[in-house]
Amino acid sequence: MNKGLLIVFSGPSGCGKGTCMEALLAADPEIALSVSATTRAPRPAEIDGVHYHFVTREQFLEGIETGDMLEYAEYNNCFYGTPASAVERQLAEGKVVFLEIEVQGALKVRQKCPEAVMIFLMPPSKEELRRRLEKRSTNTPEDIQRRLKIAEDEMSVAPEYDYIVYNNALEDAVDDIRAIIRAERCRTERQLSDR
Ligand code: 5GP
Repeated sequence: MNKGLLIVFSGPSGCGKGTCMEALLAADPEIALSVSATTRAPRPAEIDGVHYHFVTREQFLEGIETGDMLEYAEYNNCFYGTPASAVERQLAEGKVVFLEIEVQGALKVRQKCPEAVMIFLMPPSKEELRRRLEKRSTNTPEDIQRRLKIAEDEMSVAPEYDYIVYNNALEDAVDDIRAIIRAERCRTERQLSDR
C-alpha cells in the first residue's frame, strides 16, 4: 500500500496559503490538512477542531510534555504546533498530508522527517503582501506591522525549501503544487519503498 506523502507548506502570513489549501483540498480527496493546535484566539469565522484546535497555554505546554507534538513554534507571541498522532494516522491511510506551518517548525520537521517535501509559497511582491494583510480586517495595524516584519525573515529562509512556488495567480500556484505532488509520488525511492 502507498505510505502517503508528508508536505510541509510555508509562506508568509497573507501570501495566500489558506486559499491555495482550500483549492487543493477541494480538488483531491487524497489530500489532507493537519489541524494544528494554537494558543491564538480564534478569528470570527474560525471553528475549533476545523481550522485549529484552540487551546490554552497550559494545555499546549502539556501537549509538548506528553510528546504529542511533531513540531511547535512561537509566532507573533502565540504557540502553534502539529499533533503527531493525527499526522501519522493520515500518512498510514496513504494520504498526502499538508502541514501548513511557519519556517521554524518547518525546519524541525525537516530534521525529524527528512523524506518530507518542503514547499514555500511566495507572494507576488511585498506591496501585494501588505495589501492582502490590510484587506484581512481581523488584523490590527500593529499585527500587520509585526506580520510584515516576520514575513521578511521568513522569505529569507525560502532557499532551505525543496520548491518555491510564486502565488501570482491562484490557479497557476495550485497547478504547480499538484505537479510537485505528482512528481514526488513517482520518485524512485518512494516507488521502491512503497512496494
Ligand atoms: P495564523 O495566525 O495566521 O493562523 O498563523 C500564523 C502562522 O503560523 C502561519 O505562518 C501558519 O502557517 C503558522 N502555523 C499554523 N499552524 C502551525 C503549526 O502547527 N506549527 C507551526 N510551526 N506553525 C504553524
